[in-house]
Amino acid sequence: TVPLLEIQDLRVHFNAAGRALRAVDGVSLTVAPGETVALVGESGCGKSVTALSVMRLLPPAARIVGGSVRLDGTELMGLPEVAMRRVRGARVAMIFQEPMTSLNPVLTIGQQIAEPLVRHKGLSGAALSARVQSLLEAVNLPDPARIMRAYPHQLSGGMKQRAMMAMAVACEPRLLIADEPTTALDVTIQAQVLALMRDLQRTTGMGLLFITHDLGVVAQMADRVAVMYAGEVVESAPREAFFRAPRHPYTRKLFASLPGRSRRGEPLAMIPGMVPTLDRPRVGCRFATRCEFAWDRCRAETPAWVEAGGHGVRCHLGLAGPAAQQAAASAPT
Ligand code: SF4
Ligand code: MG
Repeated sequence: TVPLLEIQDLRVHFNAAGRALRAVDGVSLTVAPGETVALVGESGCGKSVTALSVMRLLPPAARIVGGSVRLDGTELMGLPEVAMRRVRGARVAMIFQEPMTSLNPVLTIGQQIAEPLVRHKGLSGAALSARVQSLLEAVNLPDPARIMRAYPHQLSGGMKQRAMMAMAVACEPRLLIADEPTTALDVTIQAQVLALMRDLQRTTGMGLLFITHDLGVVAQMADRVAVMYAGEVVESAPREAFFRAPRHPYTRKLFASLPGRSRRGEPLAMIPGMVPTLDRPRVGCRFATRCEFAWDRCRAETPAWVEAGGHGVRCHLGLAGPAAQQAAASAPT
């Protein structure tokens, strides 16, 4: 089957004081129709830059220097901005951690949800009002007639997030990208918003690219998980395999640093070592400075992507993972 979203070898550079930082350095990723792919990793690993590249909404200092992003078979890289504007909000939409990134403080919620419907679907009059009303109902906002006339500052954080979601799904995009959409919400509201996203996905069949650093959210939402480190995807697996048998040493460190696993009152297990600066071409494995399993080869040779049964990893230990090496090291000679 043709993936809904297919990112191949995406490369994005940031200009920082005359040096090119490789914020995204060869990312490949797919999302199938109706599928939820969680993109996880520490802040600064390139998750958001990857998402913003799909939307072609990168900040001015950033430049896409290579790769391909196809949505339903249409190449988005190099698409003229005027054509991209017909895609954005219509076929792919994005929601953010901070609703005010998307919501305009001087327009009513009704006006903002109507905007993409006017622009992409040509709706007006009674049909437009009815559609806005039904979207507010779909995201479980109480008293839609009142909410339509409200300004963003008159709503709570959870309500703003729902309004933003109504705007994002207004034109029934094929793909929704959610960048840490619930990180700023309290636990109860977060659960409600996540449930709502799953409902919207079930009814529309849209694909979902879900960016998070919360493995609890991954467990609830994801069909598949891609782990990013220092600008590249280092592991990708179906959710079940991701939790049962993580292979990449970095993924295993992420699990080891989970708050649930540390004893109460103890500081979180931090991953020691520095993330490499991204201003040079990659030599060897980017995780080598922090990896407890690193050996000479890791510093000299860039690990290739190896994959079997939908589980892939970028590590010289391959899909066997550290366990194999430990076993080999402790085996009697
Ligand atoms: Fe660690 Fe080497 Fe694998 Fe990189 S390639 S993650 S340094 S074992
Ligand atoms: Mg981010």
